[in-house]
Amino acid sequence: MLPASLKSDFPILGKSVNDRPLVYLDNAATSQKPRAVLDASRHYYEAVNSNIHRGTHFLARAATAAHEAARETIATHIHAASSDEVIFTSGATEGVNLVSDILSLSAGDEILISTLEHHANIVPWQMLAQRSGAKLVVIPCDENGVLDQNAFTNLLSEKTKIFALTWISNAFGTVNPVREMTAAAKKYGAIVLIDAAQAIPHLNIDVRDLGADFLVFSGHKVYAPTGIGVLWGKLDLLKSLPPWKGGGEMIKQVTFEGTTYNDPPFKYEAGTPNIEGAIALAAALEYVKSIGIDAIHDHEQKLIAAAAEALSEIPGIRLYGPSDRIGALSFAIEGVHHYDLGTLIDQMGVAVRTGHHCCQPLMSRFGITGTTRASFALYNTMEDIESLATAVKKAAAMLR
Ligand code: PLP
Repeated sequence: MLPASLKSDFPILGKSVNDRPLVYLDNAATSQKPRAVLDASRHYYEAVNSNIHRGTHFLARAATAAHEAARETIATHIHAASSDEVIFTSGATEGVNLVSDILSLSAGDEILISTLEHHANIVPWQMLAQRSGAKLVVIPCDENGVLDQNAFTNLLSEKTKIFALTWISNAFGTVNPVREMTAAAKKYGAIVLIDAAQAIPHLNIDVRDLGADFLVFSGHKVYAPTGIGVLWGKLDLLKSLPPWKGGGEMIKQVTFEGTTYNDPPFKYEAGTPNIEGAIALAAALEYVKSIGIDAIHDHEQKLIAAAAEALSEIPGIRLYGPSDRIGALSFAIEGVHHYDLGTLIDQMGVAVRTGHHCCQPLMSRFGITGTTRASFALYNTMEDIESLATAVKKAAAMLR
């Protein structure tokens, strides 16, 4: 287990809620920020702030250097072949929208996604399908929230032009075999996008090993601020695909007759970016590295197993997702509404998420409107799990 003292790296975790020490178990929605990240943001504005890339003065050069160093750190973290493959976005949602906007399809083409997807990896593809006449095809899942691999194999065909898949389900914690599924889709020449929004805080990401064309994630799920994220894409694709938003930075030459576009990554970064966010994201990934992603993963797996075991004792509880879930533990208790449960345990100082988790089609698949979800981070402790279990038991008894 990681030392409980790590909690003190995160100032907000010292807070009391309803006169109880805060137990924060809503990490799949957003993570808390360590002092190293808060300091990086503050230092940027106190000592470096300037617009980047076009300035000749001292601060412009310092800000540009820090921004591009951040890109290098992120490229190294995800094992990208080049930092030119790392495009800064506002988050995973923007990354998927960027890709779905620059790809063009024809009537009869298919976009393959899965039942486990977050709305961010559904709606942009639906919009692309609507404007192109392509068809959205969905891989079903079983009662454990695990994708049906036979169905997946049968759904793949020459018509599959895009395959977009979440690595880890934010709702159920299901881990998809992304490498194998990517390889299968690649046999049909599909463009593959992996949604790593929930993978980035828990797993080592090696984009070269993965074999996909694109991968997206948000900084705020991995201890960085909101409003910054990454789209990683294979360089040859980024070079050959059309630009997205037009504006400053994404151009080489502009005349009123026409424009030549910049090379990736700048081709996809029109306008002044979130400079501080990029620097803080690099600081967050350095923080993760200083602890070690494998040690974080081991720690969190012990926590989630202990939580599953403790909650299983509650009469009428159903845990969703497979037993080898990562990051998130979703459950429902017979006769208890998830919203009431979440509200009541909040009064006991325990923060969890309730509802559909931006996965309404997945909830429909299970005939439910939502679940209660506890989700875990490196700073959670076995005491947090005990607090969760005690609070849920107490609340369930009161609500039934
Ligand atoms: N994909 C998954 C699996 C998620 O869990 C989330 C956020 O919860 C997103 C995409 C969207 O992330 P963001 O809202 O940061 O863009």
